Amino acid sequence: MNTIDLRSDTVTLPTPAMMNAMMNAPLGDDVFGEDPTVRALEEYCADLFGKEAALFCSSGTQTNQIAIGCHTQPGGEVICHEESHIYKYEGGGIALNSGASVKLLRGNNGRIKPELISGAINNPLDVHLPLTQLVSIEDTANRGGGAIYAPKDIQAIKSICEENGLPLHLDGARVFNALTETQMEPKTYGRFYDSISLCLSKGLGAPIGSVLVGSSPFIAKARRKRKVLGGGMRQAGIIAAAGLFALKNNIERLKEDHENAQCLTLVLKDLTWVESILPVETNIIVVSIKAPARRDEIIESLRKEGLLCIAFGPGMIRFVMHLNIDRPMVEQACRILKKIQ
Ligand SMILES: *Cc1c(COP(=O)(O)O)cnc(C)c1O
Repeated sequence: MNTIDLRSDTVTLPTPAMMNAMMNAPLGDDVFGEDPTVRALEEYCADLFGKEAALFCSSGTQTNQIAIGCHTQPGGEVICHEESHIYKYEGGGIALNSGASVKLLRGNNGRIKPELISGAINNPLDVHLPLTQLVSIEDTANRGGGAIYAPKDIQAIKSICEENGLPLHLDGARVFNALTETQMEPKTYGRFYDSISLCLSKGLGAPIGSVLVGSSPFIAKARRKRKVLGGGMRQAGIIAAAGLFALKNNIERLKEDHENAQCLTLVLKDLTWVESILPVETNIIVVSIKAPARRDEIIESLRKEGLLCIAFGPGMIRFVMHLNIDRPMVEQACRILKKIQ
């Protein structure tokens, strides 16, 4: 039996059909704006979310960092969740790339509580305080166990942003997992945000790439920032083709990942060494271990049996479902989990 790799939804390998799309993609120099496949991907994404323009980038960190840089000035402040990817997992990029500080908010399962935002916005007339310049949320929330924002909460956040003249950014690394469950139209959903970062290399199963969408002036500014970061890519259509293929073929099937996550959770919740599991709403399962010190030993025992997962903080491990995991593999994963005492 092959190893079952549930460490992340980034471990997927391109299928032959996706490879075929890559091999046959028309190419050109994208820094000259001449790669037809990159342009097609950008237009597809902009249109999907009802925005004017889009920019293909190398990673979700890059799309997020470029967006933050476009929305803020040095000395400004970004409001985000204390467990957000932009703050926690982008190498201090907000400070490094944009010279901005953060105001960290709490809220259950990685989601900001809308009612905390007003109090976090600084009075712009008080010269002591950094100027609040951006609110950023993550949907689904990775550290929240793939939790989804209720549309009414996003609406509440959007209204507060509008009242205060603040842009709202979405770290939508797994936005399609959220939309799969809420059944909201991407165009309707897109109206909440001034900019959206979406990842092609997570649940969608492309090998590389993220896309930033927004207004035409915003994307023009973003394109300049991408170049300065060294992110201008030439015949990038070869990878954009995989992303376009993923958007057209792999969104529908995300519900299978969610069902597989439920399936694994049913077994996990009865194991003696499991203390608790964050509510499983999409493809991510975050487990707290009864004896936190056993975390690495458990991960190692699972690895020896052919099941991979990752440490996700003190006493916590994470499993993620994706394109390369089918039901028989989930059943095998369940059998392996039951062996660990
Ligand atoms: C993976 C991820 C990103 C982007 O990560 P890259 O590895 O840089 O593509 C951004 N936000 C969240 C929530 C993620 O899970």
